Amino acid sequence: MNSRPVFAQIPSVDRVIGSEACKFLVAKHGRSVVTTGVRAILASIRSELTESDTDIPSVTTIVDLLRHNIEETQRPSLKPVINLTGTVLHTNLGRASLPEEAISGMVKIARGPSNLEYDLDAGKRGDRDDHLERAITGITGAEAATVVNNNAAAVLLTLNSLAREKEVPVSRGELVEIGGSFRIPEIMAQSGCKLVEVGSTNRTHLRDYQQAIGEKTALLMKVHTSNYEIKGFTSSVTDQELAELASSRHIPFVTDLGSGTLVDLSPFGLPHEPTAQEAIDAGADIVTFSGDKLLGGPQAGIIIGKRELIATIKANPLKRALRIDKMTMVALAEVLNLYKDPDRLCDRIPTLRYLARSVQEIEEMAREILPSLLPVLSNYATVDIVGVHSQIGSGSLPLELLPSKAIRIQPHKPSDKQLQQITKAFRHLPTPVIGRIHDGELLFDLRTMEQPADLTEQLSQLDIP
Ligand SMILES: *Cc1c(COP(=O)(O)O)cnc(C)c1O
Repeated sequence: MNSRPVFAQIPSVDRVIGSEACKFLVAKHGRSVVTTGVRAILASIRSELTESDTDIPSVTTIVDLLRHNIEETQRPSLKPVINLTGTVLHTNLGRASLPEEAISGMVKIARGPSNLEYDLDAGKRGDRDDHLERAITGITGAEAATVVNNNAAAVLLTLNSLAREKEVPVSRGELVEIGGSFRIPEIMAQSGCKLVEVGSTNRTHLRDYQQAIGEKTALLMKVHTSNYEIKGFTSSVTDQELAELASSRHIPFVTDLGSGTLVDLSPFGLPHEPTAQEAIDAGADIVTFSGDKLLGGPQAGIIIGKRELIATIKANPLKRALRIDKMTMVALAEVLNLYKDPDRLCDRIPTLRYLARSVQEIEEMAREILPSLLPVLSNYATVDIVGVHSQIGSGSLPLELLPSKAIRIQPHKPSDKQLQQITKAFRHLPTPVIGRIHDGELLFDLRTMEQPADLTEQLSQLDIP
C-alpha cells in the first residue's frame, strides 16, 4: 500500500509530458496544446479526488484521455452527415452533393496558383467570369453571364445595379420568403429600390402591371414562388406577356427563377419546372438562379441575359464584394461541362441521380440495410420498410412528389422520449445519420443514400441509453 497522501500521488505535468506515450502527441500537436491539455486533466483529477480515494489514474490513462481530448477539440465542427430526411436538396445539410469531376477540379485548383484572373494568351490581367461565361451562355442561349456568391446575391446585385432609387412592380403573390431570411421585400429594400406591389395574393393580371408602370419604374420583376403553391382561384401573368409589356415600355424584364434547372424534369415524373433556357426564350432580359439547387453544383448565383445589362451589373462595385472564389469557379465549370452530355447527366450529377432513382432501386437498398438495423434496435423499436414521398427541397417544387421507400423505426414505448433518444443516437454516430420524424416514428428515406455501408458499418457504435 502506498501511504503517501493521495494528492501527492497525482503525477506532475512534467512527468506526464516526459513520458514515452506523450512524446508522440507532442510531436503531432505541439508542446503548447499538449501542456494545456495535461494541465486541464490534472486539475480535474485534483478537483474530483477525495482523501479516501486510492485509485489515482496512471500516466498511461492520463495520456489516453489526453489523446481523446485533443482529437475531439481539433476536429472541425463541420463534418459529413448522411442525409436520409427525404429532402434531396436540404439547405441545412448543405444542398447539392458535388460530382466527382467537380471535387477533383477543386483539389487541383486549391493546391496552387491558377490563371483565375490572368489571360494566358495576352499575358496580362483577365476577367474571372471568362472561365464560366461561355459554358453558361452555351447551355442557356443567353448573350452574357456573370456569377456571384449565391442567388440571393444575384437578385440583390441585379436590383441594385438596374433599379436603385427607382420602382419595381412585383405581384403580391410572389413576395415570398425563402428559408434563411431571404425575403423579396427585404432584398428590394436592401438593394435600394422601391417595391410596388401589384395585384392580389392569388390573382394578378396584366392590367395590374400596366397600371403600376410609371416614370420611376426601373424594370418588371417576376419571382418564382419556389417553396409554396397557391391553389384554387388563381391567375398570374406569363413570362411572355410580361416580357412584351416591359419591352413596349422600354424597361427590362427580370426573372428570379430560384432553383433554375437547366434540364426538363418531367422525364423523372416531376412537374415541368421552367428552365433557364425557357426563361430566356420567353423574353426575359435578365434571369437569376442558384448553383446548388437543381443545377447540382456549388453554392453560387448565376445571372444571365442581355449583354448590355450584364455589363452594367458587372460594373457595380458590389460585384467585387459578391464574387465567387476559385474553388466555386472550378466546381461550377466542371458541373456545367457535364451538361454537354445530357444523356449521362443522371449518372454523373448526384442531385439528378437522386431525383431519377426508381422506387425499386431505393427499396433494394432498404432491404440491404434492414437486417443490420434489426438486431441493434430490437430492444427499443420495431423496424420495417414503408412507402413514403421524398421532396426536392430548397424551394424547388414545393410538394412531396417523388414516391420513395423508407426504413421506419417505431419505438416500443410510445413516449416521445424514446423516439428522441433513438434519433439522437443516430445523430451522434461518427458520420451522423439524419432522418425525419413523422407521427411518432423515425423515417430514413433512402432516396439520397450513397453507400448503404456508410450506415451499416457504424451501427456497432450506436449508443441508445
Ligand atoms: C432559393 C431562392 C433564392 C435564394 O437563392 P440562394 O442561392 O439560396 O441564395 C432566391 N429566390 C428564389 C425564388 C429561390 O428559390
